[in-house]
Amino acid sequence: MLKKRLTFHRLALAVLAGLLVMTLMALRPEPVTGHLVHRTDGWLTRHLSPPASAYTPTEHTYRVMPGDTLGGIFRDQGLDRATLRAVLAADTELLALDVLHPGQQLLFGFARDGSTLSRLTLIQHAGHRIHYHRVTDALFEFEEVIQPTHWRQQTYAGVIHGTFYQTARQTGLRDRDIMEAQRIFDERINFRRDLRAGDTFALVLGSEFTEDGEATGQRRVEGVRLMARGTPHNAFLHDDGNYYDSHGESLNRAFLRYPTVSRYRISSPFNLRRQHPVTGRIAPHHGVDFAMPIGAPVLTTGDGVVTRVGNHPFAGKYVEIEHHGVFKTRYLHLHRILVHRGQSVSRGDRIALSGNTGRSTGPHLHFELHVNNRPVDPMTADIPMAQRLADAELDTFRQRAAWLTDMLDRGDLRLAQRQARHAAPDT
Ligand SMILES: [Zn+2]
Repeated sequence: MLKKRLTFHRLALAVLAGLLVMTLMALRPEPVTGHLVHRTDGWLTRHLSPPASAYTPTEHTYRVMPGDTLGGIFRDQGLDRATLRAVLAADTELLALDVLHPGQQLLFGFARDGSTLSRLTLIQHAGHRIHYHRVTDALFEFEEVIQPTHWRQQTYAGVIHGTFYQTARQTGLRDRDIMEAQRIFDERINFRRDLRAGDTFALVLGSEFTEDGEATGQRRVEGVRLMARGTPHNAFLHDDGNYYDSHGESLNRAFLRYPTVSRYRISSPFNLRRQHPVTGRIAPHHGVDFAMPIGAPVLTTGDGVVTRVGNHPFAGKYVEIEHHGVFKTRYLHLHRILVHRGQSVSRGDRIALSGNTGRSTGPHLHFELHVNNRPVDPMTADIPMAQRLADAELDTFRQRAAWLTDMLDRGDLRLAQRQARHAAPDT
């Protein structure tokens, strides 16, 4: 009890000190620390040019190992809890440091004194780095550096023997790709009952590359054709992130716009250029905040799988869900979480009760929608809301579908040639 109270006092002191620093900063004229850059993808990013003295004579590279925690890594680097807290605060909108993956790299940049952290860099993948820069004693801010990327397509095809999974694995597809293909046809095909030996499939897989030709590791299924007992089933990824059949009929259920049963007032909208009320610096808001009471039900806006359940000192208790195609949603500051990692959920399922955990000025739900791993405004984003593509979209869709059909045909052709060779009598 006593210990708890002491911790609380220390916390309160830290908060007060932080507020004092911020107030002092607000009173001083805004220092010229960088410039804003419009990137090609329309994002605005602040490029900092820290004073030369803060630049880093020493930089340690750390490669994340299985079982590592950020706290443990910071301890090994000789960094104190206050620094860890300040970096975690800067990561609240991204939550990139909350789940580290083995093999990821962290670059620790130290100031001249060799012990003060001036910059931490997380290399997410070849096309995406996140810098956490020290601004003051108690404040870090993030900067994302995202390289322009493009997608390259490759066709995989196979004749089904055993299960679809086994056959798909043999063509070189990975578990995630195969699960995605099965999810796409979830509502139309029962993979155990409807397929039999001799049925075929073709799949167009997109892989993301940077302009330097380095793979980012991001993959997506762009087209699938299943020939089930003579009946073709096609799926094409449209630019709204949803999959449609050849007629433009949706293969997946639409999304809900709101993650709640009732409508609540928006207390803070999505805003990539939000200015921090106190420091005046750019502090993007990657979600939309709904003012809602503690204990109100929070619903998943789409079908999917729970990929994260966490408790962050600033984001509070949170849930992340990956949906079909390119969508991901996040729900922050929760009171109680009702799902577990790996659980499948359906649109409208209760996943949590809203709350006020983490750094929060009052009970609210912070709701994020990501498309292709980038946050977008959940209130205005082009999400699949209807069961059928609108007429205005059909032309674009047909062009894309025709191109993908061509890729799938090539896969089928290769299969047919291979079968013909096997069937040919030995001479
Ligand atoms: Zn928020």
